[in-house]
Amino acid sequence: MKKTAASKKSAAADRASTTEEAPATEKAPAAKKSAAAKKAATAKKAPAKKASAKKAAPLKRQAPAKKPAVVPKKATAAVKGVAPAKTVAPKPPRGESRTALVRRARRINRELAEVYPYAHPELDFENPFQLVVATVLSAQTTDLRVNQTTPALFAKYPTPEDLAAAVPEEVEEILRPTGFFRAKTKSIIGLSKALTEDFGGEVPGRLEDLVKLPGVGRKTAFVVLGNAFGRPGITVDTHFQRLVRRWRWTEETDPDKIEAAVGALFPKSDWTDLSHHVIWHGRRICHARKPACGACPVAPLCPAYGEGETDPEKAKKLLKYEKGGFPGQRLKPPQAYLDAGGKPAPPLGAG
Ligand code: SF4
Repeated sequence: MKKTAASKKSAAADRASTTEEAPATEKAPAAKKSAAAKKAATAKKAPAKKASAKKAAPLKRQAPAKKPAVVPKKATAAVKGVAPAKTVAPKPPRGESRTALVRRARRINRELAEVYPYAHPELDFENPFQLVVATVLSAQTTDLRVNQTTPALFAKYPTPEDLAAAVPEEVEEILRPTGFFRAKTKSIIGLSKALTEDFGGEVPGRLEDLVKLPGVGRKTAFVVLGNAFGRPGITVDTHFQRLVRRWRWTEETDPDKIEAAVGALFPKSDWTDLSHHVIWHGRRICHARKPACGACPVAPLCPAYGEGETDPEKAKKLLKYEKGGFPGQRLKPPQAYLDAGGKPAPPLGAG
């Protein structure tokens, strides 16, 4: 119920913001378009041909019978006023106005909110101290590995004071499975000392203080602010960077610039959940090497559709679920995972 209200709210916000932005942003492209149309006939024949040839390719592959079967009806139908998935063609990124980009970005986020309604940080923690330590440990390893390691760590060193006074070799032994365990030991002992000496043993709730802690960059700081303090933040990790580029939300490559560019497309209140949605999608469907385009709920809104496997059956085999089987206990099964009879497909590796 909450989610429905939230999505209505965000849809309303969309409308409000897009109407606000329309006059400023759409005028220029319209004027440019007509001028460019005249020029195009004379000067830029070759580039124009190239561009249209490029865009035509994914549409060809998009057999009319395939896509409706792939694209989840429910996810798109739940968004009021959105045309049926099969009628939405991938947007040419360069011809997209700022207003259209904002609307498409927010629609993608709404679709993902339907698919991952309980998206949350996948690191286990009980307080801000545990979250900041777990996030530092998650570098270059999986959240699952960190979750297997932190119970022993926090049982032995429950507070920053305890960890600040720890013998490094003993901490290294506990952290060994997470990789880079010497550097990580140094960071978490160092940050515990800083917390003890400079912040009274408490994790500070301000970005400028958090980034001063050893091993804590903006990404970690935003994870902590968003999830332990309820302060909106965008987490630009490797999944986030890859997906927002595929979606042509930005062409920036520097994480700070990506954060600023994507932040400008959404209201601040959406930032934390947006980060979870994007990261969950990157982990489960839109993988780095082989994105499962044929089983992707945002395929109709994605300019990179076709970069991965488009055959629905083959794409389904690429989906990744967390260990412990299909997340049915915590996650509503996305339509993309339903079989032809409308029943949830078995989790990967289940049979
Ligand atoms: S899986 Fe394919 S269609 Fe979906 S977001 Fe990734 S690149 Fe786009």
